[in-house]
Amino acid sequence: WDEQFLPPPLQLDDKALAIKVDYRLSGLMLCGSTLRHVGEIFLREIENGLAERASSLQMENTYIPELPDGTEEGVFLALDLGGTNFRVLLLELQAGQLVREDVKQYHISDALRLGPGEDLFNFLADCVLDFLQSEGMEDDELSLGFTFSFPMRHHSISSGELITWTKSFKCGGMSGVNVAGLLQRCLRARGLRVTVQVLLNDTTGTLVAGAQADPDVAIGVILGTGSNGCYMERAERVHWEGPHKRARDVCVDVEWGAFGDNGCLDFIRTEFDKEVDDNSLLATSFTFEKYIGGKYLGELLSAVLGGLARDGLFPAPPARASLLSAHVSQFEEENISGAWERTAEALHDACGAPVGRTDALIAQHVARVISNRAAQLVSVCIATLLRRMSRPHVAVAVDGSVFKRHPRIRSLMDKYIALLAPHHRFTLKGAEDGSGKGSALTAAIAARLAARSP
Ligand code: BGC
Ligand code: MG
Repeated sequence: WDEQFLPPPLQLDDKALAIKVDYRLSGLMLCGSTLRHVGEIFLREIENGLAERASSLQMENTYIPELPDGTEEGVFLALDLGGTNFRVLLLELQAGQLVREDVKQYHISDALRLGPGEDLFNFLADCVLDFLQSEGMEDDELSLGFTFSFPMRHHSISSGELITWTKSFKCGGMSGVNVAGLLQRCLRARGLRVTVQVLLNDTTGTLVAGAQADPDVAIGVILGTGSNGCYMERAERVHWEGPHKRARDVCVDVEWGAFGDNGCLDFIRTEFDKEVDDNSLLATSFTFEKYIGGKYLGELLSAVLGGLARDGLFPAPPARASLLSAHVSQFEEENISGAWERTAEALHDACGAPVGRTDALIAQHVARVISNRAAQLVSVCIATLLRRMSRPHVAVAVDGSVFKRHPRIRSLMDKYIALLAPHHRFTLKGAEDGSGKGSALTAAIAARLAARSP
């Protein structure tokens, strides 16, 4: 059983070299019993988080108690902050369907990503103003869905505080600040008649958008720059402030990027993971995300090749930031097609040393081993949710660059989830633009709830 979890051993003409390399990589190869153990810890952390006991999982109530029912109508603005690009969108829904979408992307400079939070939020409001002017709608009254893809402490469907920055954002002066309120003030200061109707993250948007197309969708997952998931939990198991408590289910944002930040997963941590973490913008925080997220897979590949180089098993360490997760995907593609020349070329650029066929095959194997582990870890999380939810069939809406572009990740996840949750039927569904469409749909749901409440 355990063998089904291990990537195939490295095949080289030089058998002794292959064995030495695989020995160095063994900490990255997780067997079935280790993964089951990780799943047990994940479940315990879920339960602790929901019960507001100490846990590395936030298990945040998003206050979204229902999914689209096909009555969602209207024109909405959406902001999408937290991934690769910042986007402003205008979306029109008719009977729950998206009938119009205008999008503009804005570049967020390093100064804004790392400077005072007020500056960032003023910039976001400037972008909304610019966007509405270009649409000729700057005087219109509009509802806005704010997709803010960072861990939050929600007080309601439309308000919440940032807990910590992740990925490549680290703005000062934001702790305890209600991000929706701050955005609202910045919009008002520009004379805009825009109301922040809902505050959500990308996983929630993905779940909601996915559920519009398929009512079996009850889990939303992002496998992109960062990684996270949310799911429909029974409302009675969730801490709740304010109205709509009578709902049967509610969407809970797990924030699994932080899984193990309390030390409960240290036993899977390798020296390579430590190096990636030490070099990251937010060290010791969101360590699980650093095993999975596209922001880190290239750095992990670099760290491992650097380690092999130190042991004389690889020509030279790659320069810092020279390998990206796109390289991991590219190496895997060549590995699948049985070629090596493009891998060698990219490695030559990254390492500044000649790279031969054997070296290229080693790097492809490393890419495969780290992708395999990423697929396993995200599969443990999804499998644990499936077991907990125990529904006849669950569709999992998945979005993000790694899921879309990596040639093996999807089939690996299908395999590992089935192994880890053998009695639970599921389907992984590629989801498009949860941060945009999902945001508008959720704003429509929020408006519906508000109209209903006393
Ligand atoms: C954030 C999550 C988000 C995920 C994917 C993480 O860093 O904390 O809120 O869903 O990235 O974008
Ligand atoms: Mg909580």
